[in-house]
Amino acid sequence: MSIVEFAKNLFRFIYNLATGDDSISIESKYKYGSLLLTLISVVNTFFFLFLHNGGLFLFSLVSIAFYYLIQTLCSKKRFLLATNLTFIEIIIYSVFISSYYGNNLGFNLYMPALVVAVFYISSFLKDLKKPSTYAYVMSTVAGVAYLFSVLVKTNSTWLDTISPALKITILVFNVLICFFLIIAFSLLFTWEMKNNNALLAKKNEQLIEISSRDPLTGLANRRSMMENLNIYMHHLQKDNRMFSVILCDIDNFKKVNDNYGHDAGDKVLVTVADLITSQLRDTDFVCRWGGEEILIIIDGRLQTACAIAERIRSNIAATVVHHEGYNLNVTMTFGVTQALSSYRIENLIQVVDANLYYGKEHGKNQVVSEIPKS
Ligand code: GH3
Ligand code: MG
Ligand code: MG
Repeated sequence: MSIVEFAKNLFRFIYNLATGDDSISIESKYKYGSLLLTLISVVNTFFFLFLHNGGLFLFSLVSIAFYYLIQTLCSKKRFLLATNLTFIEIIIYSVFISSYYGNNLGFNLYMPALVVAVFYISSFLKDLKKPSTYAYVMSTVAGVAYLFSVLVKTNSTWLDTISPALKITILVFNVLICFFLIIAFSLLFTWEMKNNNALLAKKNEQLIEISSRDPLTGLANRRSMMENLNIYMHHLQKDNRMFSVILCDIDNFKKVNDNYGHDAGDKVLVTVADLITSQLRDTDFVCRWGGEEILIIIDGRLQTACAIAERIRSNIAATVVHHEGYNLNVTMTFGVTQALSSYRIENLIQVVDANLYYGKEHGKNQVVSEIPKS
């Protein structure tokens, strides 16, 4: 991978995290995490070489080799092992240097940084059976190691060989790195929580969408229609906002299935659903009520609903559905009625169903809004 490509990937990684557009893979997190630790070890190596500290120079060289091993483990998806080994390496590194050279150089600050890191890692590492327990145990280990580094001290002569200014430089370097790590892990944590919430909200929206639609026609389903009927009924009773319903049913649909096959029937249903949808306004609402019955709420009085039903009826009667070389003619029968504020939803459906039934019994392919009194 070229440096430009690497920089691009790194930028995309940070951008995705910050914008919450995508969830970040565990692979990416470990890849960039282990690269960062390798980089810190490389800087340390030069630093200790410059300070003529052979022991720590060697330690840092070993660390570079160690992080190379960690990267190999990560590429094999052994994330938990990689985490545990890194944790142990950092603890040994900080405890060893702190107890040897004292705490004034800030090497023990890596341990509090580890606490933030383990909590972050435990929030997404799937290999963990009990993530919280893991985070508590690791934090306790880091705490005990910190205490050990504070209490146990060996006097080293090397410290006397470096100037007070250099001591301050080492301290500043360690403080900066540790705070950078603490802030970075906290930011990652916050970003990830934001990401997860956004992802959940998106998934929730998709689920609601799926659960309220009929998969074949794409129309709303009966459940979603009931919710809407309740809302329209509420507005009628509260604000006297009139609405009507149209219940329509494909004529002789069974024959289409029997003569041309189920796929032909499906195609007719989809064609009819699309045609009806194209004739309605945004304030109307349409659903697949059942089988080949479609229920429509019209935001308006009976006359408006009848006019719309008649327009849909004549359009459907004029439509030819082409299926495997056959031309299928379809007609529909329509029951229409206006909702009264005294109605319950069941009454409304009973009335419109009775009108549809009357149309079916009296020749089909028609709109019925009133049953003549006999
Ligand atoms: P009518 O004019 O009186 O409404 O007669 P019909 O044949 O349309 O009514 P019937 O109730 O006898 O038959 C309806 C048929 O609709 C039976 C059923 O198999 C079919 N059907 C229901 N849902 C679907 C579907 O999703 N796809 C297809 N292809 N057929 C369906
Ligand atoms: Mg039918
Ligand atoms: Mg039917």
